[in-house]
Amino acid sequence: MAQRLINLQTRDYEHPFDREALSKVKAIPLLPQAINFLMNWATIKWNIVSLCGNSYHITDNACPELYKVAREVFTNLDLDTFPDIYSQQDYYINAYTTGHQKDAYMVLSSGAVDRLNDTELQFVIGHEAGHIKSGHVLYHVLCAYLSQVLANIPGSSALLQPALWYWNRMSEFTADRAGLLACQDLKAALSAIMKMSGVPQRFYNSASVDGFMLQAREFEEKYGGSTDKLIKLLEVFDEDHPWTVVRAAELIRWVDSGEYERILTKTAGKVCPSCNNSVEEGTKQCPFCGHNFK
Ligand SMILES: [Zn+2]
Ligand SMILES: [Zn+2]
Repeated sequence: MAQRLINLQTRDYEHPFDREALSKVKAIPLLPQAINFLMNWATIKWNIVSLCGNSYHITDNACPELYKVAREVFTNLDLDTFPDIYSQQDYYINAYTTGHQKDAYMVLSSGAVDRLNDTELQFVIGHEAGHIKSGHVLYHVLCAYLSQVLANIPGSSALLQPALWYWNRMSEFTADRAGLLACQDLKAALSAIMKMSGVPQRFYNSASVDGFMLQAREFEEKYGGSTDKLIKLLEVFDEDHPWTVVRAAELIRWVDSGEYERILTKTAGKVCPSCNNSVEEGTKQCPFCGHNFK
């Protein structure tokens, strides 16, 4: 069972490209005013009203099993906020988060819930929770909003959008690391990404995660030349997510670096024998069930 990562800090696992690029995005003039406007009146409000009116609200009463799966993710990542979670009719494996930082709304496609097992789903929910924990949500909304506005101004997208989209893609690497820290199962994380990459559903039981890992490692080796790099750059420069195989390769590289294990060790506490939650070393009384440690 995945453990709660006590005092997990985003700086422990944030991708350096994400942190660097976000500081540049935050330095764009008038951004705070634009965000304030967005928060209150534009996209977010619009999204929230339509979500509440046209999606399934996952609560402890309405869908207790799924609620529990999601709840565990937030406990594991040591997050004390918990967003409203909705499921939306959509065959794709997809999820996104919108809203204010402290008042976020998470949306899971019904395809994600149907086609992923609980651990894979925890990777996807953990990915979204990672966006919340790192403060990405507002900037993602801003990216989506700006891309709509700028699409009507000739030439503007070439100037402003690449910087935003670049950060947006880099933030996905951070979120994937959070997803892995939430589910604590590399094979499940890669299997979720593999399913997003397009493995047909009728081969879900036999598709090999090891084969997909090999594809990810080989992609990095085979297509690392300058022409390949240019193709990759041109292909993704206005996309909000990196390619699935690149995401898998980046996650494998991070685990290979030993950072993932280091974080698990650093944040491990002791397990309460009565409720199975992880609590800080030296705790006298379990904060979850009241169990007294001798
Ligand atoms: Zn994401
Ligand atoms: Zn306990």
